[in-house]
Amino acid sequence: MDFKNIIRDIPDFPQQGIIFRDITPLLAHPQGLTTVIQSFKTKFAELNINAIDAVIGIESRGFILGAPLAMALGCSFVPVRKPKKLPSAVFRVEYTLEYGTDSLEIHQDAIAAGQRVIIIDDVIATGGTAAATAKLVTQSGAELVAYGFLIELDFLNGRSALPEVPIVSLVNY
Ligand code: AMP
Repeated sequence: MDFKNIIRDIPDFPQQGIIFRDITPLLAHPQGLTTVIQSFKTKFAELNINAIDAVIGIESRGFILGAPLAMALGCSFVPVRKPKKLPSAVFRVEYTLEYGTDSLEIHQDAIAAGQRVIIIDDVIATGGTAAATAKLVTQSGAELVAYGFLIELDFLNGRSALPEVPIVSLVNY
């Protein structure tokens, strides 16, 4: 399946000069999500990334990909959420955006110390969001073993902002 042909490019969304990579047509394709999850599973296996305890999905498109991947791997799914969404005690990380800052949270008891986890999102752009999520994994005492992104925007070199663990991306621009 040619993911790039099915992902839709929306110029100037959400602001002038940005090409938004819209994955909704791929999600709508009857075999789209199944093929994406199989591709992630195969690539992680090829890299000998095994014995995963949890998939960490970043709000909100990371949930769409992360939950079925956790099912396919037979492991836990853990959401990382925007502030004030999670009801129990959280770890919080603040990170810098183009203008101002944002925060992400994870439940303190969601992953146990020493667990092997992978972080999943739809797109890596500058890498700020994924790097912040790695800090939440560190705060939890877990071991980050890999990242998975459906789309990597190579020209922004987001991977240089991330800890040195394997990065699987399925489509590159
Ligand atoms: P960043 O922190 O810069 O790596 O941005 C990553 C987050 O922003 C991801 O959660 C993406 O969903 C979203 N994002 C950034 N750039 C794009 C883009 N061109 N198309 C779609 N989503 C994007």
